[in-house]
Amino acid sequence: MENLLHQRCFNHATREAVARCPECGRFFCRECVTEHDDRVVCSSCLKKLARTPLAKRPAFVKLFRFAQGIAGLIAAWFFFFLIGNGLLKIPTSFHEGTLWQVHWMDKK
Ligand SMILES: [Zn+2]
Ligand SMILES: [Zn+2]
Repeated sequence: MENLLHQRCFNHATREAVARCPECGRFFCRECVTEHDDRVVCSSCLKKLARTPLAKRPAFVKLFRFAQGIAGLIAAWFFFFLIGNGLLKIPTSFHEGTLWQVHWMDKK
């Protein structure tokens, strides 16, 4: 933390820095930083963060979860489709012991 003591505020050259913004990595004085989501960020980064409307975020999360659910369903369907397909193909040739003669294996 000794490094911080020798730093000056990015906006006020005469003021000592008390915090470092995790977003831009610059040092700032007490007046130039704001607490946001349990983090201390500078005002310019706060503006950047605020540009993403909070109201839009849950919708995006919902959409993402919905897409994830669909993807999961497709994956599950595909998985069972493969198993079903495999089970349909195996019995006759497997039980007759003619697996090496199965014609679909020769086909390209
Ligand atoms: Zn910043
Ligand atoms: Zn400042």
